Amino acid sequence: MVPRCLLFIDTLQLATQAQKVQALVEREDLLQSLFRRMLPERCAALWALQPSTDRDESGPIMKRIRKNGLDMAEYTFSAINGPDKQYIALNEDISRANHSCRPNAKYTFHRPSFSSRLRAVRDIKAGEEICISYVPLNGPCAQRQGHLAPYGFNCSCAACADHTVSDERRARISISVVEDEKVPKRQEFERISEQIELLQREGLECLPVYFNNILYMLRLCAQVGEWAKLSTYNEKMMGLSPLFSDGMDEEQAEQLAFLGL
Ligand SMILES: [Zn+2]
Repeated sequence: MVPRCLLFIDTLQLATQAQKVQALVEREDLLQSLFRRMLPERCAALWALQPSTDRDESGPIMKRIRKNGLDMAEYTFSAINGPDKQYIALNEDISRANHSCRPNAKYTFHRPSFSSRLRAVRDIKAGEEICISYVPLNGPCAQRQGHLAPYGFNCSCAACADHTVSDERRARISISVVEDEKVPKRQEFERISEQIELLQREGLECLPVYFNNILYMLRLCAQVGEWAKLSTYNEKMMGLSPLFSDGMDEEQAEQLAFLGL
């Protein structure tokens, strides 16, 4: 899915409340001037997005960015003058996706085409709602609800509804893949199998650590002779590689190239 990006604007990073209020007024003036140059159908699409209910100095366009803007924390772009900046994208379709702590899709930005993308991270059944995550997902339910507070809702996804089991499982997930050369490969195979199983049970296929575990697992499968599993994980990798290939380091890219992905 390659939806249209309506607006793409740098985030405000200011220290004091007074600076923020002044900057919001100035930002709305800038946004209004951009808005007047947009095609009529794009203006209508932007206006159709729901505004935030914040009682602050934000104007009508900024309120729509606050409610619907997608954080692009993973991406920085070099400014013509000054330091690199982080940006928010406002999209006609993706901005309407609801949150889940078990998201079945991931939002990415494709630099070469300068477009937003929404990709499935696992199989999605017919009629199933497509959800993305608005917040970091590694922590327990209470932490996620704290991150979600500014959005004005309590998440009631399956991980939050049954959070005792989910919290215990998420606590056992390592936030990064650490390869230990001294440990026997079979033991490493069992450890990484368990991590992948935990991530799948928690619906966390959107996390880079899931991708990194699969990548490591492909090597382990070959090393311990688990050929059937190698084929299964290879299939998963083929589905995931477009999602994460932008953020790969050189060694990972070489491994994918070796695998023909
Ligand atoms: Zn949730």
